[in-house]
Amino acid sequence: MRIILLGPPGSGKGTQGDLISRKYGFPRISTGDILRRAVRERMALGLRAEAMMNKGELVSDDIVQDLVRQRIAAEDCRRGYVLDGFPRNVPQAEALETMDPGRRELALELMVDLELLLQRLGARLVCPACHALYSREIQPPRTAGVCDACGGALLSREDDRPEVIAERVRVYLRESEPLRAYYQSRKAYAAITAAGPVPEVFDLIAARVDRELGMSGTPQGRGRE
Ligand code: AMP
Repeated sequence: MRIILLGPPGSGKGTQGDLISRKYGFPRISTGDILRRAVRERMALGLRAEAMMNKGELVSDDIVQDLVRQRIAAEDCRRGYVLDGFPRNVPQAEALETMDPGRRELALELMVDLELLLQRLGARLVCPACHALYSREIQPPRTAGVCDACGGALLSREDDRPEVIAERVRVYLRESEPLRAYYQSRKAYAAITAAGPVPEVFDLIAARVDRELGMSGTPQGRGRE
């Protein structure tokens, strides 16, 4: 089974992806996280992606597809995986099906209104040491500016600056409609109301995933799903 999280930046894909990963034991694969690490570590991949990321634009399909192809070939993805931030357009969705054909899939689109997400993104803080996420408003750290988990000094993400946020949302709006239609046509799409508190949103997601897993009749843990 592969779970594909769709939704604009700031809709909670990372947080919900982690919860899904914990409950179902599927690794969460975030192309954004992998790319940011490559940028930090000054890897060739990062150097190729950095300029586009800093502008809020998509990096080339080839780069992200290679990265996902390698990651999902790993043993921990055999039973399933959660994709956060990939696919971002229909060519990427088609490439995903080609690299891992016939796997059952469920695309969940986290629906939030634009105003709420701009507020969330502007308030987002990240720990550069352990990558924990916080929000100045919704989920503040116990001590302002300090990571609860490791004591690191929290920063705003480079691409959470207002002008870059606007571009990231614009890119999302442009690509989301065809992607939604693609998964709808495959009968693998569900919209999730994601404006509420994290546990409520997760309950909606888990109910949908349970339904999907229940329909297969395939016991979890028995080979590839
Ligand atoms: P994210 O953390 O998912 O918002 O991704 C941060 C940035 O990484 C995006 O604004 C893009 O520049 C790049 N990126 C992440 N995933 C993809 C993807 N599937 N296709 C193209 N660019 C991506």
